[in-house]
Amino acid sequence: MNEMISPDEALRLVIEAARPLPTMAIPSNEAVGTALAEAEAADRDEPPFDRAMMDGYAVRLADAGGRARVVGEIAAGTLDARVLIDGEAVEIMTGAPCPQGSEAVVAKEDARRDGDRVALPAAVRAEQNIARRGVICRAGETILEPGTAITPLVVGALASAGRAEVRVVARPRMAIVVTGEEVVAGTPGPAQIRDSNGPMLAAMARGLGLVDVRVAHARDTAESLRAALDEVDEVDVMDIVVLTGGVSTGKYDIVPTILEERGARRVFHKVAQRPGKPLFFASRAREGNAPQLYFGLPGNPLSCHLCFHRYVASAARKMMGLPAVTPPLIGLLTETFEVGGGRVVFQLARARRDADGTWRVMPLRGRGSADLIHPATANTIVRFDPGCEAEGGRSVLFELLHGER
Ligand code: AMP
Ligand code: MG
Repeated sequence: MNEMISPDEALRLVIEAARPLPTMAIPSNEAVGTALAEAEAADRDEPPFDRAMMDGYAVRLADAGGRARVVGEIAAGTLDARVLIDGEAVEIMTGAPCPQGSEAVVAKEDARRDGDRVALPAAVRAEQNIARRGVICRAGETILEPGTAITPLVVGALASAGRAEVRVVARPRMAIVVTGEEVVAGTPGPAQIRDSNGPMLAAMARGLGLVDVRVAHARDTAESLRAALDEVDEVDVMDIVVLTGGVSTGKYDIVPTILEERGARRVFHKVAQRPGKPLFFASRAREGNAPQLYFGLPGNPLSCHLCFHRYVASAARKMMGLPAVTPPLIGLLTETFEVGGGRVVFQLARARRDADGTWRVMPLRGRGSADLIHPATANTIVRFDPGCEAEGGRSVLFELLHGER
């Protein structure tokens, strides 16, 4: 009991132990969720030519308020070598290169076409509706800094800059080992239960953008656990090994012993939090790479969820070169919550935003600590510190669960 550390200290130790993984080159369109490892530059001027921004006419300013002769047409995707002179206009489409000498593009709806002539409005502003070559960026200019999180917008920006492949920080490979004699992946017998943790944690891992996620099952024997660990991590390639169950004080809770036997160095065991008190965390150094991290999560599904969300996900993000944590949000409790006890409580809740933008947070209490069904529609986790005021209407700190809006 006396070795128990606070949830803040535990998170600090996890983040400290997690180190960025090596970098790798991957296709940009497969990189969403990773972070750029180096600055990316444009391979040519953007736009690469003086681009018409409207369907209309490329014109000379001298012809504003008068008529010009339409000497040609330029569609998007065509280059025209002509040089526009006073008295001439060219019909032009959005996205087409303006001919040399163009001083503005007059939108079609502002011009009146009459045979090979076009009447132009009196007010034509220099440069209107023309995006000059290089105004967005110049060839060789840095467009994105290292550490940038790759989103679909970033994929688009990289594509426009000719970066079909990018160097990113690798995603951790994750092994999940589900332990418990009573826990089965298939049809449960009368004294057995179905495995909720394995599928839930694998889904959370995928939510983080991890692609190499392996799940194995072990019984509560040393041989079975060793075999399961060998199965998922035969050559130390897994960057994070998450185990569920077997970290408490029961007779068959062998996870910490077996991990230490394999060379993992214990960082902490037990955290003053509810749920998730028995959390075990260890790391093992690797030559030329970030250390392997081992998380022994309690088997209780709610504990498992909280510990993955708060600790494992933070470590994974840091390993990927992303910010480990995001600052919490503030919302108003919809009802009074009985905190009780001396530990920090992390409670699943449903948060929604009022029309005025205020978050309203409703705790979703289950029927006991093993109930995953009643809080299943939660989109947030609320933090209650011991002794805090938790009457309805009070403000609370909460975090949106990964991928929730
Ligand atoms: P343990 O941490 O192994 O003592 O397990 C705590 C509680 O969680 C026990 O009631 C287990 O039956 C239950 N449990 C353990 N693993 C799982 C799992 N993968 N899915 C659902 N419940 C589990
Ligand atoms: Mg167990």
